[in-house]
Amino acid sequence: MPEIAFVNGRFLPLADATVSVEDRGFQFGDGIYEVIRTYGGRPFELEAHLSRLDRSAQALGLRQPYSRQQWTQFVHEAIQRAAFPEAKIYVQITRGVAPRDHAYSDDLLPTVVMTIREFRPLNPSVRAAGVEAMTIEDIRWGRCDIKSVNLLANVLARQQAKHAQVFETILVKGGEVTEGAVSNVMVVRDGTLITAPEGPLILSGVTRALVLQIAQQEGVHIREQSCSQAELYSASEVFLTGTTVEVLGVVRIDGKPISDGKPGPVTQRLATRFLERTL
Ligand code: PLP
Repeated sequence: MPEIAFVNGRFLPLADATVSVEDRGFQFGDGIYEVIRTYGGRPFELEAHLSRLDRSAQALGLRQPYSRQQWTQFVHEAIQRAAFPEAKIYVQITRGVAPRDHAYSDDLLPTVVMTIREFRPLNPSVRAAGVEAMTIEDIRWGRCDIKSVNLLANVLARQQAKHAQVFETILVKGGEVTEGAVSNVMVVRDGTLITAPEGPLILSGVTRALVLQIAQQEGVHIREQSCSQAELYSASEVFLTGTTVEVLGVVRIDGKPISDGKPGPVTQRLATRFLERTL
């Protein structure tokens, strides 16, 4: 089967998958999502992604239509049916279909959509050289911890990155770095790894948690606290973490090189240890 989708319990070709124009996800961005990828055909950190899906659902008072066991089964079935060498699984739950009104009735049936696409990893030469980023003001809402489909600020940020021909936008709120538009940001200063704390200003990444665990095991000193934009520029290393970017060195920000303009030793060590976890 080529690219496939799953809509409310049914697998079908992606091209045939549809939802109502009155779906609240379409009309209000009233929904949540997860992105999971495979390594060796196995979904990576599936439990952590499904836990976060539960947390997002709870935060929005959204009914979780499937149990953890059912989700696990659907994701595995999706991977098997699609049969890509590596897959990217997108899972979305919206509040459901109803005549347009901001307020909603509590008995709506959520709409569940899953798509499975081939995952093509980042070119190893890009990974080895590191990437460039730009900073922009973080204009997102006050609950960035919820993985909501309401991604307008992130969309605009990514588009700016695309126009500027840089890999990622690093978001800055009140002079402090929050995260990337599609990644978490980690900074190394004086041998200490610094990253924004969990809370409403960031999405707590599955990769972030794993990388912090690895860093701790590696004896790297960690401070979960915010870092100013000035501290970002003068860091010895900066890297991104995320499901699709993994651990990725940032070597230039707003045109200024970070340290010697190459991915640093902490970044490289954590990237290697991270990859070992995916085997
Ligand atoms: N922060 C934002 C805003 C994201 O969109 C993502 C991933 O999509 C992340 C962080 C990284 O999260 P994860 O490691 O769970 O992929």
